[in-house]
Amino acid sequence: MLNLVLFGPPGAGKGTQSAKLIERCQLVHLSTGDIFRANIKGGTELGVLAKSYIDQGKLVPDEVTIAMLASEVNKHAEPNGFIFDGFPRTSAQAAALDELLASKNTAITLMLALEVEEEELRKRLLLRGKDSGRADDQDPAIIQNRIDVYNAETMPVKDYYSAQNKYKGINGIGEIDDIFEALCQEIDKV
Ligand code: AMP
Repeated sequence: MLNLVLFGPPGAGKGTQSAKLIERCQLVHLSTGDIFRANIKGGTELGVLAKSYIDQGKLVPDEVTIAMLASEVNKHAEPNGFIFDGFPRTSAQAAALDELLASKNTAITLMLALEVEEEELRKRLLLRGKDSGRADDQDPAIIQNRIDVYNAETMPVKDYYSAQNKYKGINGIGEIDDIFEALCQEIDKV
């Protein structure tokens, strides 16, 4: 199985690149942000809970997020592999993911991290907010909160995968197709 973590701050291009990667590699795409938004739209109990955090630019608690992710992984009997987009976002989530995959006799193959500087992220998110309808992309204070949360809580996940020699940083600034090529080159090396 090819199991990829697509990592990077909000606005780095994880969703865009995931869409291209799943097509090329025939992987199951699991975006925790997308799953939360689908639950919010569907008015589920999980959606109501998640919304209270998402609207403030905070992380949904680990317990809830890990349980949701595990149930999504379990829906797929014999996948080619997964692309985890927006997960793990904390070290506890990374450890839980390792445990879940180990129970299925598999593991994370590679973490591909899209590297984009903060000023560019703020610009991209505000621009995306004009079309996406996402409230968390429209308010500069919420955007800043998401970036701060990323720096404080999510950055340590990089060290988690570096320690396993699985971390690959990719320049996330440039043409979408060039960034995609750089990602594919790293995947082809494994
Ligand atoms: P995203 O679409 O990945 O930018 O996620 C949107 C929001 O959903 C985030 O700002 C968090 O509030 C929440 N979220 C998504 N993934 C996670 C996660 N792995 N852990 C906690 N909260 C998450």
